[in-house]
Amino acid sequence: MTLTGQIFNIQRFSINDGPGIRSTIFFCGCPLSCRWCSNPESQNRFRHEALASGDRKLIGREWTVNEVLEEVEKDRDFYEESGGGITLSGGEVLQQHAFASALLREARRRSLHCAVETTGYASHEVFAEFIRNVDLLLFDMKHCNREIHYQKTGVYNDQILENMRFAVNSHVPVIARIPVIPKFNATLSAARVMAALLREIGIHEVHLLPFHQLGEKKYEQLKLPYEMKGVRQLHPENLQNYLQIFLDAGLDCSFR
Ligand code: SF4
Repeated sequence: MTLTGQIFNIQRFSINDGPGIRSTIFFCGCPLSCRWCSNPESQNRFRHEALASGDRKLIGREWTVNEVLEEVEKDRDFYEESGGGITLSGGEVLQQHAFASALLREARRRSLHCAVETTGYASHEVFAEFIRNVDLLLFDMKHCNREIHYQKTGVYNDQILENMRFAVNSHVPVIARIPVIPKFNATLSAARVMAALLREIGIHEVHLLPFHQLGEKKYEQLKLPYEMKGVRQLHPENLQNYLQIFLDAGLDCSFR
């Protein structure tokens, strides 16, 4: 039987999901439920109907490995010129780890650089096997306090941090990505704790992703409660002191 995966979008010419010009492949399904999620329609693992731009439409469809590669190979010249490649994103890719691993193996066999954006939320066994086929992990860090992490994402962070440490110790390149979210982790004290932990784990590079409201309309359309309604967006100019904490900790830190 041919292995297939549920994918809800393939975005060409991405420039913020790893080095160079990339195609970003968005997987359906996420075990977290972050209160600020800008893609709430992606949290469902299975193909489903949802409202998009006012119309009902199906979110996600099944793709084979070859279908995905046929699509992303269209931009091979751009990857080669720019040092880019493909990035698997979500949702959470690890929810479909068997398909994702098959895709990564074949992509690497074709000499495509493979990055994966992940929450790192999976068992050690699944994660350890999965990262064998990855060139770069863009690894979310959301909060160091396990109770606060649970309150705002629906899961504890123990396994996530353990997997991050394992990836670094396994010499897989890791860039930490921090969504900077008001009423959650946008305080200087939260930044200090994260910076210290990232240093201790052995991370060298950090991307800060300031909170935005691009997903707000989707919650209305999907008739889902939205905890971040009316919360002001953040911008790099609001977060210079926050950035400085990571720089002072010796981390290569920038906004995305
Ligand atoms: S991990 Fe990402 S996709 Fe999953 S709920 Fe959080 S923001 Fe949304």
